[in-house]
Amino acid sequence: MNSSIGISLYPIDGLDPEQLLKYADTAMYNAKEEGGNNFQFYSSEMTDMAYEHVVMERDLREGIRNENFEVYYQPKMNIRTGKLTGMEALVRFITPKKGIISPGVFIPIAEETGQIIDIGEVVLNKACRDVKKWLDDGLFNGRVAVNLSAKQFSLPDLTSRIDIILQKNALPSYFLELEITEGTVMDDPNEAINIMRSLSARGIHLAMDDFGTGYSSLAYLKQFPLNTLKVDKAFIDDMKNERGRNMVDSIVTIAHNLDLHVVAEGVEQAHQIDILKTLNCETVQGYYYSKPLSKDEFTEFLKQQQSKATPSLISSKKSNVASIS
Ligand code: C2E
Ligand code: CA
Ligand code: CA
Repeated sequence: MNSSIGISLYPIDGLDPEQLLKYADTAMYNAKEEGGNNFQFYSSEMTDMAYEHVVMERDLREGIRNENFEVYYQPKMNIRTGKLTGMEALVRFITPKKGIISPGVFIPIAEETGQIIDIGEVVLNKACRDVKKWLDDGLFNGRVAVNLSAKQFSLPDLTSRIDIILQKNALPSYFLELEITEGTVMDDPNEAINIMRSLSARGIHLAMDDFGTGYSSLAYLKQFPLNTLKVDKAFIDDMKNERGRNMVDSIVTIAHNLDLHVVAEGVEQAHQIDILKTLNCETVQGYYYSKPLSKDEFTEFLKQQQSKATPSLISSKKSNVASIS
């Protein structure tokens, strides 16, 4: 049991008691959001933030009703061959009035309000549908990684919800990977292990996202039935200095010693690729190869990949043309 206190000051914040009480209340909710057991003085930014929060919640509700969420895909590439190994599904909120809103802005609010559960289902459903189409068209044969929020992860019927979506799209679980963060699993690690085991038993792969940015426990990392570890962009950016490179080296080594596949996130520059190669990191994701792409753009990307992958076919076609002429 802890307490949170909100404070407003007369006459700075207001002159009448009702307004002062309202502001003290706003400050108290902010204190709660900061984790509780503390106090906060009221500031006008708090009202602005509370207002933005309410507006976003309303926009999200409308967006869910009007199906305004689209899925973009960012390729994950094999660092040695430069070929596609998989992709990450990233949600975009396409609003009629405000254009595309990035997940960094709306996901925290959707998490708080629980709207992430509906949004997450839309993303999973669309990702499964798109991958099934690419599979059927012979354009792709790997896994799509979908981010799973903490709220989704703790749903008692999570596995059956996923089963239903896979069945509905006739997509075998082999083609799905779920990305979860340290924060999601460290709340109740033992329960998390049970949930992860039931997902893993279905053939779904599991990736630890943003590795190293949350509070991890190496003792638990060993016990989690993970397949992939994603090294956060912050570590990749920090490879400019020796200590930063050593850090990534250590993370890759830990991952490999635990038999985990490593994905470096947010790779933007050629020299980062060179360093990651020397550190034996096998997969790279980032603007260096491609930004997240819409479904249609990604279809084009897949087609380009395919034409790169079959040079012998292309050259034999060329020689056919030459012999005819
Ligand atoms: P994340 O899961 O770590 O996804 C990677 C983010 O890094 C994406 O941002 C991606 O566009 C961005 N990124 C990739 N490569 C680069 C790079 O080279 N440079 C830079 N500067 N950025 C790069 P995005 O799409 O804005 O997503 C932000 C976060 O929102 C995601 O971080 C993830 O935590 C969350 N998110 C996105 N889609 C979903 C979703 O469908 N469900 C849930 N629960 N969360 C999602
Ligand atoms: Ca992710
Ligand atoms: Ca990440």
